[in-house]
Amino acid sequence: MTGRPGRTGKGSSQASAGDLLELVRSGRAVTRGALQQATGLSRATVGQRLDRLFRAGWLREGAGGPVDSPLGGRPSITLEFDDSHAIVLAADLDTRHARAAVLTLTGEILAEHSGTLVVEDGPEVVLGELGRWFAELLTKAGHLAEEVCGIGLAVPGPVDSETGRVVQPPIMPGWDGYDIRGRLSRAFTEHTGAPAVAVLVDNDANLMAYGEQRTGHPDCSAFVLVKVSTGIGAGVVVDGSIFRGVDGGAGDIGHIRVGAEALCRCGSYGCLAAVASGGAVARRLAESGVPAASGSDVRDLLASGHPEAAALAREAGRRVGDVLATVVTLLNPGVLMIAGDLAGTPFLTGVRELLYQRALPRSTAHLDVVTSRLGERAGLLGAGALVVEHLYAPERVEERLGALGV
Ligand SMILES: [Zn+2]
Repeated sequence: MTGRPGRTGKGSSQASAGDLLELVRSGRAVTRGALQQATGLSRATVGQRLDRLFRAGWLREGAGGPVDSPLGGRPSITLEFDDSHAIVLAADLDTRHARAAVLTLTGEILAEHSGTLVVEDGPEVVLGELGRWFAELLTKAGHLAEEVCGIGLAVPGPVDSETGRVVQPPIMPGWDGYDIRGRLSRAFTEHTGAPAVAVLVDNDANLMAYGEQRTGHPDCSAFVLVKVSTGIGAGVVVDGSIFRGVDGGAGDIGHIRVGAEALCRCGSYGCLAAVASGGAVARRLAESGVPAASGSDVRDLLASGHPEAAALAREAGRRVGDVLATVVTLLNPGVLMIAGDLAGTPFLTGVRELLYQRALPRSTAHLDVVTSRLGERAGLLGAGALVVEHLYAPERVEERLGALGV
């Protein structure tokens, strides 16, 4: 829970219960004295607001025992976010495969399932099936559906975060403009009998970036993740928040023209994804007689050290690295993470070759090019965190405390 930008300025006399919760959750102020100091509120007012958070079950006294108070006097009891009062559901859809989990509010996975789920079967079927998975996972985790506070979903397409709908997704036929939130909420209710909960939807690369940045690189203020699987997409996290652009299109680098002849799934010719994605490498392998139909087939071949797959992955890495030179020059990130089916040594070697050759030395002087730490769980953890950050954001806390009657 670190690395987020300050939303509560020191000396703000208007700090709400939500602001105090935010200060505790981020670790910036974890005692009553520190909260007084950070907000300028009186001891009594801090006490009243904390009382509401305690009554809601959102805060508890820390296990670490008392610490020295910044205001002097007796050592103070530390406060911490009580993550046991609710749970979150999350799912990450790939084109032919999905992963779903029950998570704690602080991102610990309590139960997890992965299996075949084909995006091309359409949202009605896929989201209905996810509802069934969620019900089974809750049973497995030993939790009640009534404990669920929200659902986060990662999808392989561009998402309008205001509506939670995908916008002209090249690899999600039948999903354009579909009410994903409504359907998933209904599926959850149908399969569990519990009341509807908040559903948040975002692009998979965005949520992978969010999950990885928060858990592994919390101090990195400009973080870029590139996912290279069936398609190619990037997620950008700036100052701890996902950067989406004006309509959710930020990071959609797979359809930048790189001047090749190949036909892309988006209908255009010469997109980066048409020549350097896992799908594109699989096609090249199949043409030369190597059985491969998807990015995950390529991943398996790379894992077994297949020389032709390695050579093609390195070439794909060079193509992507050329585009990333521009990305890095524009954003000057501290970490560039390569994730997805192709993320391995040959691809990374190719990326580095072109990146360092084409980008300004100043843009790459403090750049770490790394691979994923969370692997296939990155999207799940990002989706869970998105829900928690949304529901416990200072501007939403007042209304939620009101609904709880505290
Ligand atoms: Zn394209």
